[in-house]
Amino acid sequence: MRVFIAGDTHGNTNWWLSYLLPTAKAHRADVIVQVGDFGFWEHEPDGITYLDRLNREAAAQCIVIYALHGNHDNWSDTMRRYGHDRDDDGFVRVRSHIRYIPQGHVWTWAGRSMRAFGGAYSLDKEWRIKTERKREAAAWSRENERRAAGKAPRDVPSFADTLWFRDEEMTDQEFTELMVAHIFTVDVVFSHDKPRGSDPGLDLKNEPACHPNQDRLQLALHTHRPRFWFHGHLHHAYTQTLRSGDDDTFTDVIGLSCDDAARPRFWRPYDCWAVLDLLDDERMVVTTGRLLEELKAEVTPGLPADDGLRTITLAIMRAKRGTPHEEHDGWDLPADGLPTCGCGEELPGVLKAILDGPLR
Ligand SMILES: [Zn+2]
Ligand SMILES: [Zn+2]
Repeated sequence: MRVFIAGDTHGNTNWWLSYLLPTAKAHRADVIVQVGDFGFWEHEPDGITYLDRLNREAAAQCIVIYALHGNHDNWSDTMRRYGHDRDDDGFVRVRSHIRYIPQGHVWTWAGRSMRAFGGAYSLDKEWRIKTERKREAAAWSRENERRAAGKAPRDVPSFADTLWFRDEEMTDQEFTELMVAHIFTVDVVFSHDKPRGSDPGLDLKNEPACHPNQDRLQLALHTHRPRFWFHGHLHHAYTQTLRSGDDDTFTDVIGLSCDDAARPRFWRPYDCWAVLDLLDDERMVVTTGRLLEELKAEVTPGLPADDGLRTITLAIMRAKRGTPHEEHDGWDLPADGLPTCGCGEELPGVLKAILDGPLR
């Protein structure tokens, strides 16, 4: 089974249609998991149009999109509308081909256990609340003008929870309840926010107000000790290996960037996705868009891109672990110069760079 994982999409229909769905299809993904700030925004007409249009395209490609919630998703509204309608795996059916992954949900795909944690703290919370109030005041002044002109009074709805959502992050109590409900190890975790212990290098969301939620996720990391942890929210791509237990248990944390409309400086489209292969022999292999892009230039011509890249990725992982390569005697990794295989075959330079990087 192949899972395509997408970073923040912020209700950007064009981004899905022109880039994400075709990329997922090109990699023969069976399902898509989106890690929050997806665009659950049905309190406005545009939000409904977005879900309808995206669903039509996903249905046409026979692929189901599973999205957890970010700080900019009106997930309570989604639960109010569709929470009663669950599929066999407990996902909330939002459209025929769009599912909401409820907070803390645990499920199994191809024998591997997965868990999702939505939410984060919004650093622009004050601006959002102020804008909601301004919009409400403007609506009231229009209504008062109508009434002054002798028209029948109409209701002005509250603008609260239209730009900033009060339940954007879980409380300690909610988190404790989720952990008590499932304290076992999990193979893969998807979240919106990052676990506190990961270091993305460039982190614009490393503020005290962001830390409580990231601390909760760090606790989840030490409890579940997953092999892989995917998240969004930072709009910045990185991979890092963290120790997740006091023995030799490690978690590869993979942060994904966002859609083109919200892009930060130095953004590249391939920074916003990764592919998780759940292989029949119980191995799991992750290939990020960035890794594939870097390898593309170096792959032996004639190899089918997908299979060739997977082979190379597996070889890298084996080399990093220091275990012998299948067909060769093992990689020789000199301090300087290119690594060579036992048979004398040289690794391309870009692979050396990756070997020195955090991917194991
Ligand atoms: Zn976010
Ligand atoms: Zn975002």
